[in-house]
Amino acid sequence: MVKKLSKKEIDDFNKNVRKQNLVWDSFNNKDKNSCFKFSEKYKDFLTKAKTERAAVNEIIKAAKKNGFSNIDDKKLTNGKYYKNFNNKAVALAVTGKDDLSNGLNIIGSHLDSPRLDLKQNPLYEEVDLAMMKTHYYGGIKKYQWLARPLAFHGHVVLNDGTIVEIIVGEKESDPVFVISDLLPHLARDYHSKKVSAAFEGEKLNIITGSIPIGGKDIKDRFKLNVLYYLKEKYNIIEEDFISAEIEIVPAGPAKDIGFDRSLIGGYGQDDRICAFTSLESILEVSKPKRTSIAVFFDKEEIGSEGNTGAKSSFFKDFISDLLTKESIDFSERALRKTLINSMMLSGDVNAAIEPDFQDVHEKSNAARIGHGICITKFTGSGGKSGSSDASAEFVGKIRNIFNKNKIIWQTGELGKIDQGGGGTIAKHLAAYGINIIDCGPALLSMHAPFEVSSKADVFITYKAYKAFYQS
Ligand SMILES: [Zn+2]
Repeated sequence: MVKKLSKKEIDDFNKNVRKQNLVWDSFNNKDKNSCFKFSEKYKDFLTKAKTERAAVNEIIKAAKKNGFSNIDDKKLTNGKYYKNFNNKAVALAVTGKDDLSNGLNIIGSHLDSPRLDLKQNPLYEEVDLAMMKTHYYGGIKKYQWLARPLAFHGHVVLNDGTIVEIIVGEKESDPVFVISDLLPHLARDYHSKKVSAAFEGEKLNIITGSIPIGGKDIKDRFKLNVLYYLKEKYNIIEEDFISAEIEIVPAGPAKDIGFDRSLIGGYGQDDRICAFTSLESILEVSKPKRTSIAVFFDKEEIGSEGNTGAKSSFFKDFISDLLTKESIDFSERALRKTLINSMMLSGDVNAAIEPDFQDVHEKSNAARIGHGICITKFTGSGGKSGSSDASAEFVGKIRNIFNKNKIIWQTGELGKIDQGGGGTIAKHLAAYGINIIDCGPALLSMHAPFEVSSKADVFITYKAYKAFYQS
């Protein structure tokens, strides 16, 4: 027997069905203006902070401007601190009214993005071209890096310890670099290869010049001319490449996309979108109940390794510094208690449904562009393997904070089951006993040289992070 309901009963019941809300539908003119204004600042950050070092620099500059002091400076105790670690990872804190041991509200993101690093012996010449070899970093689709303008971001340590910073390809008047691609006329054999075989890591070599130096009798004179230029301009010799970090990234600024300018295109939005929004929100936090922390890690794209990644002791060291600063008798127990009582958002991006590749998503559990911040309960692959999988209680808490503050949010999995997958910093922080969940906006073209975000999602993420800090 089918249960009959009146029209009013059906309408009432329909209110219980979860709806996906589009942020734009919720905006009035004032909201849209604030959102577009905020996006200008975000684009500026994306354009300036293309490497983890540049991002750390921007974050510390903003922190200092907003009254944060270096936690390692013993004299200062104003409740707003930052800690720089090797210029690749950084953390900010605003102390709250509650005891630190009651727990912290933490947002963690990462500052590294997929890119091409120069090899330690990069220089060579081939068919009258001066070339440099690269080794890709993080998950890339190699073909996306061919035949597009690239910029050179170098941090070179000379034999005497002098540091030389080189940025070429970002100013309008700068030259750029390029990896040459095969013309379609001669690509017949390549067209029938598997993509993984058609594009090899060893073929991601950038063109750096084509004028030789000296007479025809000189060996390697195209390579030598590049070395001559580098020596003249930067005082660099070939061995200096060995003690250097040179990142090759897409050239040029972040841009608006669409006639309506509603989207943002730019390099490194995974995960500078969460870095920027968490930075902006912690800068505005004042006298919170619980201490607010924003931590920005390096090396997430290669598994959170190294001494600047989320697996390192950097975060624990920062919290230890904070306990000491607040005159709490420091002990391992005090540190553990503080961490166990903390709650954390792993600020990282999810994949929005791709218009031309919809088959890789399971649409009732996939994020959509423009639908607000995305709560990702678990990541991983092959049966949630490698994921930290947040508890129902913690998801409930975050859901409640967002609903109370009228934040438009959605949930999403990273693609269909067994389609692939990925991980974030979440599981490494969960190991301390912190309640943590992945929570950030969804992108189109994630990990591409030109990733796409929605201005609406950027703005909502900032508001959501602020609500989290204030709860
Ligand atoms: Zn990421």
